[in-house]
Amino acid sequence: MQNIGNLTIVALVILNIVVWLVFSPVYDGDPNFLRKYAGEVIGSNNIVLMACSLFLATRPKWAEKYFGGLDKMYITHRHTGTAALLLIFVHVLTVPITTTGWRLGNYLAVISFAGIVSIVLITLAPRIPFLNRLAGSDYEDWKKLKRWIGIFFILGFFHSLTVNALDARIAITWTMMFFIIGTASYLYTEVFGGIFKKFLPYKVEAVKHPNHSSTEVTLRARKDPIKKQRAGQFLFVRFPGNKDLNESHPFTISSAPAEDVLRLTIKASGNFTRDLFATLEEGTDAVIEGAYGMFDYKTGGQKQIWLAGGIGVTPFLAFIRDMNGELAHDVDFHYTVRHPEEALFVEEIKAAVERNPRLKLHIRFSATEGSLTIDHILNNAGGNLQDYHVYMCGPLPMIQAFEKKFLEKGLPKNQIHFEEFNFR
Ligand SMILES: Cc1cc2nc3c(=O)[nH]c(=O)nc-3n(C[C@H](O)[C@H](O)[C@H](O)COP(=O)(O)OP(=O)(O)OC[C@H]3O[C@@H](n4cnc5c(N)ncnc54)[C@H](O)[C@@H]3O)c2cc1C
Repeated sequence: MQNIGNLTIVALVILNIVVWLVFSPVYDGDPNFLRKYAGEVIGSNNIVLMACSLFLATRPKWAEKYFGGLDKMYITHRHTGTAALLLIFVHVLTVPITTTGWRLGNYLAVISFAGIVSIVLITLAPRIPFLNRLAGSDYEDWKKLKRWIGIFFILGFFHSLTVNALDARIAITWTMMFFIIGTASYLYTEVFGGIFKKFLPYKVEAVKHPNHSSTEVTLRARKDPIKKQRAGQFLFVRFPGNKDLNESHPFTISSAPAEDVLRLTIKASGNFTRDLFATLEEGTDAVIEGAYGMFDYKTGGQKQIWLAGGIGVTPFLAFIRDMNGELAHDVDFHYTVRHPEEALFVEEIKAAVERNPRLKLHIRFSATEGSLTIDHILNNAGGNLQDYHVYMCGPLPMIQAFEKKFLEKGLPKNQIHFEEFNFR
């Protein structure tokens, strides 16, 4: 089920090639006919991939189950964008380019090429060491820049209609369908989202600081609350009344779904979260989008390992607050932080352990006890991990390192579940 989304995208690309082969263009006697034909097939695949990427950026909740959660949809969004970028280069190298007799379509091609290539390269920059240094790391600047991609997508499609293209009416009509999907998705993301009740008004009811670097925010719905969330899901929130906090950021809902308020536990780590720690006040307006995510231990096997690193404890807090003394799984919960003062809600977690004998807590202070190791986890699990389902949340390097170690210990990939606290 969780692969259906990705397989559908691959199938659409293949289907697009088949449509262009079956409904091939009329031969016009041009010696460059084959190069033009190949270039158009590649260009049309570009439109298909970009349309998929723009569609995924609308964050459709109903599609989460076909990708394994919104975080995984973002990975696919990045991959389709990268594939489209590579195809643009192949397209440019394939089509015959003349220096004379340029039409509107040729100029649109240059603008669209320059726009898409620069935006996608900047998007990929944080993952490419050399570009990372050039691009800087301000997420909000990057998000603002990315908004332009739809405009270049539209210009790219109009380029295909106004350049001296081959006569392939049926195939072009088919490709136009993807242009419409991509454009509608873009307009929904950037303009019309609010009309469809995607964003809900809330109010900050309480602001607390459980330690020197984190904030617990309690939110109450002004009108309709978000649809009943599952424990472990997350939302996007912004605070329009505070100009420094009017950016939409994702945070896990750390309260239980049964509570009539939403609680978030937020670590001050960058500009937004530090400003939130310093300036967020009770009574401030909030705008919520969600809930998203498929990080849900209830769908896993009976024996489980939960692994939380630092602020990655938030989905587990939601699990624990949701439990009510009725845990139906045997859980080894490893919670690792550097220092004791960084460990959040420890008394509450210990009280939940008292009520749920099947829940075992192992807190590790890495500054004094050393980092948590796979052998430590393995020993607590009785030396054999085969039957375990692992749920992890924390910094990306920690998750990647543990995923590798669990795989090396023979745990099947489909028994390892994690939430990426990173959408870039
Ligand atoms: C599914 C999910 C759940 C999360 N749950 C929690 C939680 O419960 N508690 C918590 O403290 N943190 C949580 N985070 C992390 C939190 O979203 C980031 O720490 C926060 O957005 C950083 O913003 P900043 O400006 O303070 O830091 P920056 O230093 O500006 O950003 C650090 C990194 O955070 C990510 N980020 C920044 N802005 C955004 C944005 N607008 N949208 C998406 N990602 C962004 C980027 O990867 C960026 O590189 C979660 C993240 C995700 C994806």
